[in-house]
Amino acid sequence: AKENGKSIYSEYNNSMNAAFSERMNIEKYLHTAMKRDEFELYFQPQLDLSSNKVIGLEALVRWKSPELGNVSPMKFIKVAEDTHMIIPLGEWVLIQACDYLSHLFKSGYPKMVMSVNISSIQILQEDFTDRVTEILKCFNIEPRYLELEITETRLIEAFDTVYNKLRLLSDMGIRIALDDFGKGYSSLNYLNQLPIHTLKIDKCFIDNVSLENEKTVVTKHIISMGKDMGLSIVAEGVEMQEQLEYLKKYRCDKMQGYIFSRPLPKSELEKLLKSMNSD
Ligand code: C2E
Ligand code: CA
Ligand code: CA
Ligand code: CA
Repeated sequence: AKENGKSIYSEYNNSMNAAFSERMNIEKYLHTAMKRDEFELYFQPQLDLSSNKVIGLEALVRWKSPELGNVSPMKFIKVAEDTHMIIPLGEWVLIQACDYLSHLFKSGYPKMVMSVNISSIQILQEDFTDRVTEILKCFNIEPRYLELEITETRLIEAFDTVYNKLRLLSDMGIRIALDDFGKGYSSLNYLNQLPIHTLKIDKCFIDNVSLENEKTVVTKHIISMGKDMGLSIVAEGVEMQEQLEYLKKYRCDKMQGYIFSRPLPKSELEKLLKSMNSD
């Protein structure tokens, strides 16, 4: 028993060490990643469920590190937040996303909304609202074509400040989306308090839905509650036909997921948009 305990302990210890050194490495190389131009934006289309048209894109950052390989944003965004690297990185993402949207508009693609993930650390920067306005002006984009996706993590730390800034942006016509809805503890509370336009239902509420499995009542109630509040509802992480049928039956507005498209680099996204225009 003693030996057993020891091996469990050292296994735990090893995996702790591995996680720690992975984090250390991420921190080390993240530091220079921007200067070395290692980030790239991918774009995942959002589909309108009633028209089957692409009505939006979510910008998702990718990091191709020569030393670490492709690092998932699930791993490095947290580190970027802790080190406040998210401030220059987040601004880079916003600029690249707006630049690309203006390119798409100039090239004659149908009008779409660009959704950009924003960390609450960015929002708390004193000049955040000014920077957003300047960037929109710089690329000549109307505010209604930009959506900022926020999550409730860390929102609570400075709720009033965040609220005031979101209110300002929202009054300017910029869209605000509450991301990962349902995943946290206080989503329902925020729903009432924040000036939001869009509710993105977390993938975990989409994973098991189908018309055969009507036990999954929560999802349809989230949809109808959100719609009663006048929000646009987006289902995230849709992978299967059964899920799509369920979402259509309960009148979810939009969806994003591998069933239609993974996040794509620019050239592939444009190929997809062209193929949709031609049928
Ligand atoms: P998120 O904002 O919830 O983004 C959705 C994630 O789900 C993306 O992962 C996307 O690739 C993935 N996804 C989309 N459809 C499906 C599907 O059908 N099945 C499955 N299994 N997954 C799907 P990704 O790109 O790895 O990003 C992970 C998270 O990293 C994002 O979650 C977001 O929180 C964060 N992130 C990504 N880019 C940025 C950024 O520019 N700024 C900030 N602050 N966070 C970002
Ligand atoms: Ca998001
Ligand atoms: Ca999400
Ligand atoms: Ca619709």
